[in-house]
Amino acid sequence: MSSYIVETAGLTKIYEEGGTPLPVLVGVDVRIEFGEIVALRGPSGSGKSTLLNILGCLDRPTRGRYWLGGRDVSGLDRTAQAWVRLHYIGFVFQTFHLIAHSTALENVALPLHYAGVPKPEAHAQARALLGRVGLEHRLDHRPNQLSGGQRQRVAVARALACKPRLILADEPTGALDTRTGQDILGLLLELHHEQKLTLVLVTHDPAVASVAHRQIEIRDGRVVGERISDAPAA
Ligand code: ADP
Ligand code: MG
Repeated sequence: MSSYIVETAGLTKIYEEGGTPLPVLVGVDVRIEFGEIVALRGPSGSGKSTLLNILGCLDRPTRGRYWLGGRDVSGLDRTAQAWVRLHYIGFVFQTFHLIAHSTALENVALPLHYAGVPKPEAHAQARALLGRVGLEHRLDHRPNQLSGGQRQRVAVARALACKPRLILADEPTGALDTRTGQDILGLLLELHHEQKLTLVLVTHDPAVASVAHRQIEIRDGRVVGERISDAPAA
């Protein structure tokens, strides 16, 4: 088996805008090892989210190949993509993407329901996950009754629900104050250690990027540089 959890070759994404092709990713080759922490950096509009969405099987490349855990997932249909996402990948987004009318417990239990876990068991697991992120006292709160940091903790618990190997986090601290952002980053690092999770972080923040083992720099849809961190936190 490949020693890479993520391997891409010539990944290209082209949008059509008024009949004009708009290349957003151009021949991206990345390799990420199992258990690695990688930061994706680059200016706004450089294609970071597009790349992360393809790595997360939320989107498909126009050209190029993508192997996830050694399996070619570049051409999967929507149903197969959804299965891979549910069982292999956890997502954390800048703006949390929680279901507004559902409680913290229900938000975390939802992927377990999709995975076919019976309700009592799903709720028990969701309760344990919320305990792990320090929210055992907020199970029945809805997102608008929680602070930003607490919402992101719920999102992290939800990301972990189906025991993914890979966590993809798009600006996970971007909507939080510095202190709260550090707490969330600390939590992700603890989980990386506990569960040998592979972590891919999109970030603008050099302090956040510096915890990664490796930083990949993206400009105009291309990988233009790579740096091994001097003193990764992990
Ligand atoms: P980043 O996350 O680095 O800010 P994105 O990946 O979000 O960059 O976007 C890269 C470029 O692709 C931007 O110019 C953006 O406008 C364009 N883009 C993103 N999604 C679409 C889409 N669905 N249709 C057309 N253009 C898009
Ligand atoms: Mg983005």
